[in-house]
Amino acid sequence: MKGLAVGVGRRDLLAGAGAALMLAGCAVNVEGGRHGGVTEAARSPLALTPIRATPDRITRITVCTRPFRAQGPRLEVERIGQKLVVHHYGHGGSGWSLSWGTGLVATEKAMALGERDIAVIGCGAIGLTTALQLQRAGAKVTIYAKDLPPDTRSSFATGVWSPDSRICLEQYATPEFKALWARMCLTSFQAYQSLLGLPGTPIEWVDNYNVSDQANRERHEPVTDGRPPFADALQHELLPTLTPHSVDVPAGLHPFGARFVRRNTNMVFNISSYTRLLLDEFHANGGRIEVREFHTPADFAGVAQKVLVNCTGYGARSLMGDNSIIPVRGQLARMIPQDDVHYGLFYNGVSFVPRRDGFVFQAVGPDDYYGYNDDSIVPDRPLAEQSVGIIASLFPPPAFG
Ligand SMILES: Cc1cc2nc3c(=O)[nH]c(=O)nc-3n(C[C@H](O)[C@H](O)[C@H](O)COP(=O)(O)OP(=O)(O)OC[C@H]3O[C@@H](n4cnc5c(N)ncnc54)[C@H](O)[C@@H]3O)c2cc1C
Repeated sequence: MKGLAVGVGRRDLLAGAGAALMLAGCAVNVEGGRHGGVTEAARSPLALTPIRATPDRITRITVCTRPFRAQGPRLEVERIGQKLVVHHYGHGGSGWSLSWGTGLVATEKAMALGERDIAVIGCGAIGLTTALQLQRAGAKVTIYAKDLPPDTRSSFATGVWSPDSRICLEQYATPEFKALWARMCLTSFQAYQSLLGLPGTPIEWVDNYNVSDQANRERHEPVTDGRPPFADALQHELLPTLTPHSVDVPAGLHPFGARFVRRNTNMVFNISSYTRLLLDEFHANGGRIEVREFHTPADFAGVAQKVLVNCTGYGARSLMGDNSIIPVRGQLARMIPQDDVHYGLFYNGVSFVPRRDGFVFQAVGPDDYYGYNDDSIVPDRPLAEQSVGIIASLFPPPAFG
């Protein structure tokens, strides 16, 4: 049977973190196996356990701001008083995904300064991975942070592989930046492969179904009001070599009636167990954590270490007075997970991620700029319930309850 043609446009490929779950690749060849033939097993209809998506199962609504910089993450050394500070912030919607790659770059810069007793400011995705990489490179590391997991902004991320989500604007994607991004992306990708199959399933690959009422539907409409586009050539060139290709699922082989369905496969970060793993390794390596807030860069003088790596994320905006950091608001509705649901969905602008530490429903909006320059962190419950309702509409109403 011929596959349905569901278009994946450039906007699709740069959708937000949640949307990226559906886009980064695909693994399952429904139409043919290794020999190219169509086997009965390959044509078996998908058996997908329905999601119990009802508002009463929402456990929490979280909101946080992505630390977006038009020119990409800040990765440079600055002398502040007697200290040498390696700035390492501004990872937009890609912080978890790029953390190992960008952490390696920051580690190289910090280790090149000659000190072996190093402070890391911040304990989010970036601070934690950087701290571990510094330890692996032979440094003694102390983390100083105002908030620790699970209260960092990183704890409120969707939790999917999205290394090109709002990482910079197209105009700043120079050949040098692209080469750096490619290196960071590859390093991170391989680091995550080494974290598969561990107790608590911190990282896993998950199939996703992009469901649409129309063929060839763009997941995100192009921005037409003159705002500059986010960079997208980055992933076009590299991601297809990293992640499996997507494939149409013919009608009759999926449970979504006459709708158009495309399947892909992407990595999911179960952030609770993954963060615990990172913290455990940091402590096992002799790392120390001190809760401390820095109000101005002059406060850096108060730490014993001469070299500091500044991983303060969105916090750098006020700490460093760095208005190049632009908030991009994102809200998640979390829900009681089901042990038998291990597939993701995207439908009518809503992304569903089957995180084992709590399902995630996220409205990703009509365009890439959804939440742009919005620093409000007040939860929007009607939006959360609407998102849950959109995913629920894909399934028959429950027979009871
Ligand atoms: C809704 C949403 C969904 C997302 N989904 C994904 C995803 O699926 N995949 C992905 O890769 N990325 C995703 N992201 C992006 C990702 O979450 C961020 O890029 C990442 O969290 C940034 O990490 P960080 O460590 O730089 O910042 P943070 O997590 O904010 O950590 C900063 C640390 O610095 C500390 N700090 C800040 N200021 C100070 C100060 N003045 N003094 C002392 N300590 C300070 C904080 O307390 C904290 O410990 C998402 C973001 C949002 C908002």
